[in-house]
Amino acid sequence: MAGLSRRRFLQGVAGLGAGVLSGCGGLPLRSGAKAHVVVVGGGFGGATAAKYLRLLDANIQVTLIEPKAKYVTCPGSNWLFAGLANLDQLTVDYQSLQDSYGVKLLVDRVSSLGAAQRLLRLVGGQSVTYDRLIMSPGIDFRWDAMAGYDQAAAEQFPHAWQAGPQTLLLARQLQAMPDGGVVLMVVPADPYRCPPGPYERASMMAYWLKQHKPRSKILILDAKRSFSKQALFEAGWAKHYGYGTANSLIEWHSLADNPLLELDKQNRMLTSEFGDSFRGDVLNIIPPQTAAQIALQQGLTDSTAWCPVRPLTGQSLFDEFIHVIGDSAHYAPIPKSAFAANSEAKACALAVTSLINQTPIAEAHWLNTCYSLITPEHGISVAGVYELDSANAIAPVKGAGGVSARTDGEAAAMEADYTRAVYRSLIADTFG
Ligand SMILES: Cc1cc2nc3c(=O)[nH]c(=O)nc-3n(C[C@H](O)[C@H](O)[C@H](O)COP(=O)(O)OP(=O)(O)OC[C@H]3O[C@@H](n4cnc5c(N)ncnc54)[C@H](O)[C@@H]3O)c2cc1C
Repeated sequence: MAGLSRRRFLQGVAGLGAGVLSGCGGLPLRSGAKAHVVVVGGGFGGATAAKYLRLLDANIQVTLIEPKAKYVTCPGSNWLFAGLANLDQLTVDYQSLQDSYGVKLLVDRVSSLGAAQRLLRLVGGQSVTYDRLIMSPGIDFRWDAMAGYDQAAAEQFPHAWQAGPQTLLLARQLQAMPDGGVVLMVVPADPYRCPPGPYERASMMAYWLKQHKPRSKILILDAKRSFSKQALFEAGWAKHYGYGTANSLIEWHSLADNPLLELDKQNRMLTSEFGDSFRGDVLNIIPPQTAAQIALQQGLTDSTAWCPVRPLTGQSLFDEFIHVIGDSAHYAPIPKSAFAANSEAKACALAVTSLINQTPIAEAHWLNTCYSLITPEHGISVAGVYELDSANAIAPVKGAGGVSARTDGEAAAMEADYTRAVYRSLIADTFG
């Protein structure tokens, strides 16, 4: 991971010049001596940003606004399907952020951003002013992507792509399914939250079905031609679930040229453009995704429905005082993951303290790792390291990162242990 040259470092700073200058000269700090940074969204991006802002500069007041007093982590939520975890074990709160780091928590939802006045309005009626705003509100769904599948239908055919009641509903449906039943899993095209998530979910469901309902089948209907860690997943599925044989617990079908168009709720049937139909006993439909509603409604997204940002600082291209991180933001090629949101939050917190204190902004490197379980004793992973290239765009660092070796046995067991350890350390780093 080579450091940036002095020239590239200065280019990075130069790219931020407008923000730095107007931050100093245009609008002074609202709160006088103490700058006030407001963070919206207490998930992996927002909670990390709030904590690290306080660690980096205790003179900055930090308010975290999040509607839920407790947060259920999506990472680990697939383990529910294998009976390896329950929702309580995946639930965290914000006590430590408040007690140990002095983050002020407002349990409320932001309804609008008054960018000109740097003022947020909350659903509860309160308004809050900020010197800088960090948005990490996560994702929303394209409910118009498939005829017949909308928000109401998701209560019958859960996506379970925001952990909580949806995850429980899907787990209960799996448990209630007859032996010999079919699970249809619909997977969207890129980009979406957690690229390997659907395939880990299929693995965890297959692990449970193999023990309890071995005549069943999981059919993955994928809008993509290929998927994250595909060779590793397929090797694991062949080893544990008969993948590639007539009795495989998992089948994967690319529908890249034949998209699914319609859900017939009554008959639990999906129909594709070419008229193919798929009937399932349990339907897990993961719709295509967008940045969260608040980002869409408040004009922080572009035609892709994600928020474009200056990568080094996370500043929105539409408002230099608003920073967007995590799944809502466009940080490609960094994938949308909790690990990446945590990494983006740290770089953003560092940039925000520099902007407030009018000090040079340090170079950033971003990290991602995604671990997945194929069985409780078989883990696989992908890792990436990213930096700014000479055009100030995010690029993978050559020679860094990669996927697990295609081995099993002891190495796979170690990767499974790392999966659980990485989860624990990510929780501790974000919320602890
Ligand atoms: C099944 C599954 C498994 C996954 N496994 C992994 C994994 O193993 N490793 C990994 O790294 N990633 C994993 N992920 C991805 C990870 O969950 C997300 O990438 C991560 O949560 C993104 O963090 P975020 O801060 O952008 O959004 P979130 O964590 O979703 O947080 C957004 C927060 O913003 C709040 N919010 C939204 N709107 C408002 C508003 N108007 N006002 C105030 N607050 C608001 C929400 O309540 C929410 O708490 C998984 C995802 C899924 C679905």
